[in-house]
Amino acid sequence: MPNKLTDLRRAKPVVQADSGRNGASRDGAGRNGQDLANQILLDLPRNVSSNLIGKAQLIKLPIHSVLNEINEQIQYLYFINSGLASVLNVLHDGKSVEVGLTGREGFVGVPVIAGFKTSPTRVVMQIEGTGHRISVKDLQVAMKASSALEKSLLRYSQELALQAGQIAACNRVHEVDERLARWLLMSQDRIGGSLIPLTQEFLAHMLGTRRASVTVAAGMLQKAGLISYVRGQLKIEDRERLEHASCECYATLTRQLGAWKSESE
Ligand SMILES: [Zn+2]
Repeated sequence: MPNKLTDLRRAKPVVQADSGRNGASRDGAGRNGQDLANQILLDLPRNVSSNLIGKAQLIKLPIHSVLNEINEQIQYLYFINSGLASVLNVLHDGKSVEVGLTGREGFVGVPVIAGFKTSPTRVVMQIEGTGHRISVKDLQVAMKASSALEKSLLRYSQELALQAGQIAACNRVHEVDERLARWLLMSQDRIGGSLIPLTQEFLAHMLGTRRASVTVAAGMLQKAGLISYVRGQLKIEDRERLEHASCECYATLTRQLGAWKSESE
């Protein structure tokens, strides 16, 4: 694990997750003002999510913390409550390219769902947040007991595979400014709000391109009034036009996710 990254294995819970008693509920604010925001947990039958939350610990996920490490055994799954994680493909020379994004709509630790033990990717927090951390063993027991949970986790693993395929095509054929617009839209969907606390250096890394290219691309979007910078943070000013500025990949992903959602209802 690169030494700049944070190892979460000894992270202490900031908030002991609650199963619905003592004033914290899956709908409202918890004892420490932590709302449950993970969409998978929110969509599950109440007894299933309460059971999971009761076994999980709500922990802080600082920027650059590693949730799953490439080729290492997966010890925990994370239902992200806030913040944004990047799924990275790491090459032998240490370079990494983003192949997926997970926020409060998903979970980290997908291979476990199929019974696999190790991670083929590095999953790193790019925007700090919180998440419900649950051991692989507890998750597997819960999954055996609830077909709704199993189905929901399987669906998300397909969504992540869909992203990986689209991003691979996108990185190969689309221009940096279109890819930047696509990335900003995907990030906003996953974190909510219009402020994205990221540097251009980071964006270049995520888009697998040079920083100078991202500076030019961001400058174009800024000049057109689609984004701005507020106290060092990137702000989305005009989402509708940003969608037009994106390559087809954002609309393709959105359309497919919508189709799958209606097929599963
Ligand atoms: Zn694209």
